[in-house]
Amino acid sequence: MFNFSFLTKKTDVPNAKQTAAQFCFRLIEHAKKTFGVFRVKEILRSAFSLRQESVRYGSDGFPLLEEGGQEALKIAVIGLSNEMIKTFGTPFAESMMEKVVTQMEATVPAETITKEVLPIVPSGFLEGRKIKALSKEELAHRVEEKTAELRHVNENLEAKVSERTVELNSLLAEQQKAAQLLVRRDFELTRANERLKKLDEVKSNFISVVAHQLRTPLSGIKWTLNLLLNGDLGAMSTEQKTFLFKAYESNDRMISLVNDMLGADRIESGKMRYAFQPIQLLDVVDNVLFELLPQANARQLTIHFDHEPKDLPKVYADPERIRAVFQNLIENAVKYSKAKGAIEIKMRRTEERKVLVQIKDDGIGIPKEQQKNIFERFFRANNAVKAETDGSGLGLYIVKNIVERHDGKIWFESKEGEGVTFFFTIPAYTEGQAMPIVTRVSAIVDSPSQPKVQ
Ligand code: ADP
Repeated sequence: MFNFSFLTKKTDVPNAKQTAAQFCFRLIEHAKKTFGVFRVKEILRSAFSLRQESVRYGSDGFPLLEEGGQEALKIAVIGLSNEMIKTFGTPFAESMMEKVVTQMEATVPAETITKEVLPIVPSGFLEGRKIKALSKEELAHRVEEKTAELRHVNENLEAKVSERTVELNSLLAEQQKAAQLLVRRDFELTRANERLKKLDEVKSNFISVVAHQLRTPLSGIKWTLNLLLNGDLGAMSTEQKTFLFKAYESNDRMISLVNDMLGADRIESGKMRYAFQPIQLLDVVDNVLFELLPQANARQLTIHFDHEPKDLPKVYADPERIRAVFQNLIENAVKYSKAKGAIEIKMRRTEERKVLVQIKDDGIGIPKEQQKNIFERFFRANNAVKAETDGSGLGLYIVKNIVERHDGKIWFESKEGEGVTFFFTIPAYTEGQAMPIVTRVSAIVDSPSQPKVQ
């Protein structure tokens, strides 16, 4: 085993080999205090096994460093300094070695330390001392080496910087191009949007003018046909009457289409005016049913209408608009019912002081995937288009708008092939409720008894 006893005697001047060993021993002693004896043994063992350097171990478990010479000492120092760096950082390891060397300088000549200790100190440590120990030539050589190394690093760096600059420039150019494209796109979209707005305005004006222009002649035709059918202008054969009645029905469909177009146009342009007053919804339904009865009879439909629901309050509404709501919903129920089907109309007061209306049919129903679109302008479900070719797809759009203007809500439940139930609510009228002053817009549907022939 390595004998360190000589180190305790201050008077001893150790020889070269002993000086290096002394450094190593002192470092081991410091390490023992820092990491503990057991850990230091482990550190040294793994340092030797890592280097695949065979060394013998003493009975105390420490390597017999004197047998391995300078190489063994070097491995031990490297192992210890690596552990110090890992645990406490490089400055700690450096200060530890500096401390050991300073202690040794009290007994060992500086020249011996330079010659024997510094070679076993890993590179990067005690560099100041190592440089001081170099000859002029060695120093010049070192400087040259370092300069070349730095130049090389510098050149690499410059190459990398210029490479990155080229990359960045091309990225910048691409970004500029994309930005220009975006600006152009934005400009084009704004212009297209303006054009569309203008077109929409033109279309809206066009619809409004055409619908208004059509209204009067259609009313005239209706009035004239009615006179003919009533026999006011002379008797007609049954065949003539049948054909005239078909003309009357077609004319009615045209009037209803024109009405829908005007209604939708008024909603969009915000020109739909309301004249609110307290009204009884039961009366409105009676009136609508009376008009739709021939259509319902033609299809052999049964209509159940509860005329006397308990305490049904009045609502505060525009009678003409509400009439249009019932007209549309009941007409749809008739139109989309299967022959001999049943329609049920119910009303009741809710706990929230509203009147809830329910219109149920057992007709074609609305396909589930299209239910979300049902209140959109011009939307018609596939099954409706197939079953009933007449229809503008504007009715429900208008109905929803009117109900909501009355502070109400509209919704439906449906299963395709089994029918639809439409529900809507209108707040009940409270006695003394203020009546807003609004401009009234005359009804569009012209009754035969009030012709508008120019
Ligand atoms: P339309 O003039 O086509 O009847 P609406 O706006 O009144 O237009 O209705 C929109 C669509 O809603 C209809 O085309 C139809 O697909 C569906 N719909 C409305 N009411 C019913 C109903 N009672 N039964 C089945 N489908 C209905």
